[in-house]
Amino acid sequence: MSPILIWFRNDLRLHDHEPLCRAIAQTSNILPLYCFDPRQFGETAFGFPKTGAFRAQFLRESVVDLRDNLRQRGSDLIIRQGKPEAVIFELVQIYGVEAVFYHTEPMAEEQAVERAIARNLAPLGTKLRGFWGHTLHHPDDLPFEISALPEVFTKFRKKVERDPAINPTLSLPKPPAALPPDLEPGALPTLEDLGLEAPEVDERSVLRFTGGETAGKARLQDYIWQGDRLRVYKETRNGMVGADYSSKFSPWLALGCLSPRYIYEQVQDYEDQRISNDSTYWLIFELLWRDYFRFICAKHGSKVFQPEGLQGVPLPWKQDWERFDLWREGKTGFPLVDANMRELAASGFMSNRGRQNVASFLTKNLGIDWRMGAEWFESLLVDYDVCSNYGNWNYTAGVGNDARGFRFFNILKQSKDYDPQGTYVKHWLPELVALPANKVHEPWKLQPVEQKRFSIQLGVDYPRPVVDLFKSAKANERLYDEAMQAHPR
Ligand SMILES: Cc1cc2nc3c(=O)[nH]c(=O)nc-3n(C[C@H](O)[C@H](O)[C@H](O)COP(=O)(O)OP(=O)(O)OC[C@H]3O[C@@H](n4cnc5c(N)ncnc54)[C@H](O)[C@@H]3O)c2cc1C
Repeated sequence: MSPILIWFRNDLRLHDHEPLCRAIAQTSNILPLYCFDPRQFGETAFGFPKTGAFRAQFLRESVVDLRDNLRQRGSDLIIRQGKPEAVIFELVQIYGVEAVFYHTEPMAEEQAVERAIARNLAPLGTKLRGFWGHTLHHPDDLPFEISALPEVFTKFRKKVERDPAINPTLSLPKPPAALPPDLEPGALPTLEDLGLEAPEVDERSVLRFTGGETAGKARLQDYIWQGDRLRVYKETRNGMVGADYSSKFSPWLALGCLSPRYIYEQVQDYEDQRISNDSTYWLIFELLWRDYFRFICAKHGSKVFQPEGLQGVPLPWKQDWERFDLWREGKTGFPLVDANMRELAASGFMSNRGRQNVASFLTKNLGIDWRMGAEWFESLLVDYDVCSNYGNWNYTAGVGNDARGFRFFNILKQSKDYDPQGTYVKHWLPELVALPANKVHEPWKLQPVEQKRFSIQLGVDYPRPVVDLFKSAKANERLYDEAMQAHPR
């Protein structure tokens, strides 16, 4: 039988891979392909690298691991640098490919590529089949059509929890056959080929994230089983220091090295074998947030990228580059914000608690266009996922489906609640190390004599606050209220 081409995208795994399983059920004559698409290595609208070095490195490692795993099964991964629509068209013609199977993506950029492939293949009569595969729930099993998806998370969650329908993971029925002997598998591009420099390893990072299904499964094994951390996940998940306050599964989920249904099954096994408690439930609860954002994006499409967001709130966002630079460089004078932004820049990761705080500060205190923040995250995050990133930014900026109006994070309260000893801020801001816990979150209050005692000069060693926390939030709340009055929902 003629080959079926598997176009790998953000699904870099062999477990629970429906396109591959379906194809192998028809033929072992499989051409697995990954394309480094130059468009993914261009610039965002605000001029940041679309895929920064942290994620590019993780992606390369994931592709290598996929190739290794295919080679162990007697096959290989074809690696190309180029537009998938052109690469696939060429392979289809040369090798008489009968069908192309792949995982669909819900957003415009990715769908445009799917359409371009369809256009190119139409004259050749090659079948093209997309599968939905990034979520716990399959859209066909939801208790509503995506067009009728509840707008608010809690409603969505309650409906899907009422009658959970999560399909079991799929296993490969048999290994794929070797590639045709004349098919050159292709070399992995270097970071330099992708226009990037290797990121420096910062020893302060929460984890050395290594890409690939193998490392993803090892992390799961370590976190859930060896470390036995799942039993306390609900209590620790708001932490910011160290590898184990949360699962850190997100980079592997984002590139599909781990399937969410695989995690779900592991949690079920853990509940059977060890303990079933609020923490085991809560990890699945968080995966439901992930599902929710993907379905919301599938429902609303490009609205999630608009400045007025899903709710259509026409706020007068500022594109104040001077203050934006202070934010992204971790120089706002608010230690919690600065520590998180420096962690992101140095490691490509930030905790969920940190993300909520820095996003709130950018939008609710500085009043800066949330899309600048979202694109900065897109560039740097090792776990960037279009739906989770833009969905969460909509939510935090107050233009998403947050039913609760203008809510801002009180950075000071958050600092004291989640970093009472200042351990986290001192980890990333060495200039504050000498300050006692009761002073470290408000360095601007240090008297000259204290500055001398702790060897820190405000405005020199550490910046003064860029805004007054409460006055700036009030001013932005007024703008929000005016926008809501002018355009009631
Ligand atoms: C402004 C902002 C931007 C974000 N951008 C991204 C992004 O690009 N990619 C991304 O994966 N997550 C994003 N998140 C969600 C969340 O911060 C990360 O998923 C989480 O910090 C990853 O760490 P973890 O795997 O240890 O999470 P855990 O706490 O261990 O949670 C387990 C998994 O649940 C999912 N999850 C948890 N919280 C959320 C959430 N709020 N939304 C969606 N899924 C969630 C993730 O897949 C995560 O891996 C963003 C949050 C905010 C506030």
